[in-house]
Amino acid sequence: MSSKKNDTKQAIFDIDKENDFPDWYTEICRVAELADVRYGVKGFTPFPPWSFMSMNLMFEILEEVLQRKDHLPMYFPTVIPETNLTKEAKHVEGFTPQVFWIETTGSGEKLEERLALRPTSEAAIYPMYSLWVRSWRDLPLKRYQRCSVFRSEIKSTRPFLRGREFLWIESHNVYATHDAVKAQIKEDLETTKEVCTDNFGLPVMVFRRTQWDKFPGGLNTYAADTLMPDGKVIQLPSTHDLGDNFAKAFDITYLNKDNETVHAWQTCYGPAISRIYGAMISVHGDNKGLRLPFKVAPYQVVIVPIFKGKDVDAVLKYCVDIKETLKKAGIRVHLDDSDETPGWKYNYWEMKGVPIRVEAGPRDIKQNNVVLFRRDTMKRDIISLKELKKKVTDLGKEIDENLLNMAEAKFDGLVVDAERYGEIDDALDHGKIARVPFCSIEMDGYPCAEEIEKNTRGDIRGTRIDIDEKSEGLCVACGKVAKEVVYIARSY
Ligand SMILES: [Zn+2]
Repeated sequence: MSSKKNDTKQAIFDIDKENDFPDWYTEICRVAELADVRYGVKGFTPFPPWSFMSMNLMFEILEEVLQRKDHLPMYFPTVIPETNLTKEAKHVEGFTPQVFWIETTGSGEKLEERLALRPTSEAAIYPMYSLWVRSWRDLPLKRYQRCSVFRSEIKSTRPFLRGREFLWIESHNVYATHDAVKAQIKEDLETTKEVCTDNFGLPVMVFRRTQWDKFPGGLNTYAADTLMPDGKVIQLPSTHDLGDNFAKAFDITYLNKDNETVHAWQTCYGPAISRIYGAMISVHGDNKGLRLPFKVAPYQVVIVPIFKGKDVDAVLKYCVDIKETLKKAGIRVHLDDSDETPGWKYNYWEMKGVPIRVEAGPRDIKQNNVVLFRRDTMKRDIISLKELKKKVTDLGKEIDENLLNMAEAKFDGLVVDAERYGEIDDALDHGKIARVPFCSIEMDGYPCAEEIEKNTRGDIRGTRIDIDEKSEGLCVACGKVAKEVVYIARSY
């Protein structure tokens, strides 16, 4: 990561994130070496270590939570035979336009059946579930896989936020009853909060999506949105109530306690780690570059030695000892002993978002001290070497809390009540979310939604399920008594 092969390597980053977010995002992906868009295939992007190490840590956190809640890992093939992909009519209708097909082999032989690169894995997994689920004793069946999926996006692609291959976990669960499905959905939404908010510092609002914006083939979709710096919202994990639709399409039945063969009930849940990573760096970054949460930073601490001439050996030894002490305490630590100046190193690691920096020079050695710098507030503190281990651990927690608090402060005051088109436009133009009375999020509300979305260029995100609210007033489009309160925002 500190290879100097590229002489144009840049240490100073300075882009006004709030006012020029698209440029900030493109440049930070390039300069911090998060994604290399020179690969040459639209929407397919290599992820170098600095982003991939964080995403790995994010996967580990999510998998720990899933396994604690009795979901077991498994792995399925990347390809899905066409006959399986077409079994659930609405599902195939929703996903087929985005599918990449494999039709021939290198020798020019045409495959007997076309194979889809999985856009999502229901059609790969459920034919096997149909064999695996036999009796009520097999339920609940809670499984997940960590993999990448492929969707031929027509919209413009962007590293992490919208790619044609993205990294995710998909959890696929089978139950005996619809009530058990509803309990799983609640659990998934708690998992989303624990992982995205408590660990990655991303505040969320949780919605039931409208009937025209749900997972193709499912009954209902519930999803968490967070706010990006440009005032648009982005969807983080979504979880789907599949009802017994897929069980009927894929013949997933079981023998119940009365010895009758009945269809099972299902959910699926899909946190896209690469997308969450894109949102996380966007929300926490500042004009100087990244600010990574301590929990998912590839290096939690960077040590910068400060020396001139004859002090080299003593300072380096002091720093190596610090590195070993922190390493033993389980901290991810890097000693930057490259030839660059301390000032260059400060800028570089600040741009890369390392949460804590330790600086040590001859004066610190004499007093058995180090300088501790925190990236979130850019504040320095002198502490004694004895305290270092504890200070780093405490400061790590403090930094993560502070990043979440700052993100939550942006969330406060974000929602604006609006009852007329002008008010909705005004809210959306100022990067806010409009809270609007609306006739119905069932299919009969669709014409109103189309009108609203055309007039405001905003998307109806659905109704909140994380708070209780009552609708008042009239639908902004048709003027009928509003049954729902919906949130409208510009979105990714
Ligand atoms: Zn209406």
